[in-house]
Amino acid sequence: MHHPSACTESHDPRFDALVLFNAGLELLATGFRWLEGPVWFGDQRCLLFNDIPNNRTLRWSEQHGVSTFLEPSAYANGQARDRQGRLIQCHHSSRCLTRLNHDGSVTTLVDQADGKRLNAPNDVVVKRDGSIWFSDPLYGLLSDYEGGRQVSEQSPAVYRLDPDTAAITAVVRDFDGPNGLAFSPDEQLLYVSETGSAGSGEPRQYIRRFSVTADGRALSGGEIFHKISAGWADGFRVDEQGNLWCSADDGVHVIAADGTLLGKVRVPQRVSNLCFGDRFNSRLFICASTSLYSLFTNTRGAA
Ligand code: MG
Repeated sequence: MHHPSACTESHDPRFDALVLFNAGLELLATGFRWLEGPVWFGDQRCLLFNDIPNNRTLRWSEQHGVSTFLEPSAYANGQARDRQGRLIQCHHSSRCLTRLNHDGSVTTLVDQADGKRLNAPNDVVVKRDGSIWFSDPLYGLLSDYEGGRQVSEQSPAVYRLDPDTAAITAVVRDFDGPNGLAFSPDEQLLYVSETGSAGSGEPRQYIRRFSVTADGRALSGGEIFHKISAGWADGFRVDEQGNLWCSADDGVHVIAADGTLLGKVRVPQRVSNLCFGDRFNSRLFICASTSLYSLFTNTRGAA
């Protein structure tokens, strides 16, 4: 364990209330290739996460450590649970979202939009109304390492999926590389990280903020909310106070709802994604390159 004071870096007094003086960064497991997609299963007291280049979904619990949950995983990346507690996975190589049903069967939820195949669904979040929102950039199609090179049939987008009717709607298309996404606690805002590059000029690497329309089905706005430095935000989560806990090159950055960087949790490896979990939903699980870390915090993930 890293000494607590060595792993946090306060940039704003508000940060100090979010972290604990006597809790440090814990290395839970290592030896993976590139981790992504952590999701906590409170009823089973375990974390599911993906080792993308190794094409497998892994399970970690305090009691039993790491075991294989699903292999092959169709190069699964982002994960979430739906309102019934079922695992939702984004898959690079099969270019779809699936749901693992309680009886063990798997349902493909969506694999195309407007009659064309999706690219490589990257990250996913489920809204309280049961709708599934996910990003569909090109990253997972670009290399054999993360699922096998394939040809894109359409531009990147963020989608809203109604799992009951299978209706899929692009809610925003002006992204190069939409990546992580999360709602504010009241679900009136949706944050989406942009990890693309506009080609020439300034790289498009920031978090955008959208307002959810009154019917809960569409977005407006989309201004730049925050620019991460160093690196860029991949996956992130929102805590109960509305702060964003974001992946970055040098660790986890905590950003207030007003866009201010409050502080950092220093992590020895580049962070790709994270989630809250454990008994009180106050423990941060961090996927960082080849390792899985955790940190007990003094806040809780948004319910
Ligand atoms: Mg991602």
